[in-house]
Amino acid sequence: MPLQIRRSRAGVHLFDRHSGLNVLADEVRVATDDYSQSPRCLSIALTNACDLRCAYCYAPKQAATLNADRVVAWAAELAGAGCLGIGFGGGEPTTHPRFAQICEQVSQSTAMAVTFTTHGHRLTPRLVESLQGNVHFARLSVDGVGDTYERLRGRPFGAVHTAAMRLRSLAPIGINTVVNASTIGELDDIAEFASGVGAVELLLLPQQATATQPGISASDAERLVRWIQLANPPIRLAISRTGIESSVVTAEPIPGEDPLEAHLHIDATGTLRPHAYARTGVAVTGSLLAAAHELRQAI
Ligand code: SF4
Repeated sequence: MPLQIRRSRAGVHLFDRHSGLNVLADEVRVATDDYSQSPRCLSIALTNACDLRCAYCYAPKQAATLNADRVVAWAAELAGAGCLGIGFGGGEPTTHPRFAQICEQVSQSTAMAVTFTTHGHRLTPRLVESLQGNVHFARLSVDGVGDTYERLRGRPFGAVHTAAMRLRSLAPIGINTVVNASTIGELDDIAEFASGVGAVELLLLPQQATATQPGISASDAERLVRWIQLANPPIRLAISRTGIESSVVTAEPIPGEDPLEAHLHIDATGTLRPHAYARTGVAVTGSLLAAAHELRQAI
């Protein structure tokens, strides 16, 4: 596959999903009419279903699963409009009955990166084999270590190491961690685990409030900021946009980029939103680019 190309007010962006190479030719002036109409990245909740029952889960509880053909058609539309990557999540994306086929069809028909986030407990050798060559980055959710993980997730911690190794046979991996009262004291151990399994990034996700659970407390948020400032962990850190990131030094991938140009999210009902926690959304009934335009007008 050739490089994926994106044009914006920042210049011309070239992306190679195999090496992860990003080149922004910011000396190139792009005419407004030539700006890519797609968001730079799109996340898609393939399904709300999950076989785990984490108390702090933010995935909507109504049953919903996206039609695979619809997802593949959206991917084709976005690829032609300058999108660089699609990330599948949920719920748990591997519970989608056509998960592997969706990854294969998107990967084979576009030059976009295909990524997904998983709890890792359904990664059978057969599923991993069916994903080979069709995934370019994978994220493994690891909330706490040892007993903490087992209490929060109800699965053996040892299985997470196996999952990490299986994911690494597919693509570079990152570790995702929900930061809350249970995990805030284990960040050093989580960073060691992430580095030990060969992950390239630890993504910190301060717990978001749900209908039944509060978000991360103010005191734990302060501890998290202090840890980021002082810990010097053996792995690159990233943090989700939940407000706390404004208290730490972060890098902007594209300086001055509008958040709605950077990333959009489709939930499992087919509603396009600025991000997974957003209340505002537009139902995608036909063209995804038309829905993106409508969403930008509405906000
Ligand atoms: S693994 Fe993720 S999607 Fe599943 S219940 Fe836990 S937080 Fe929710």
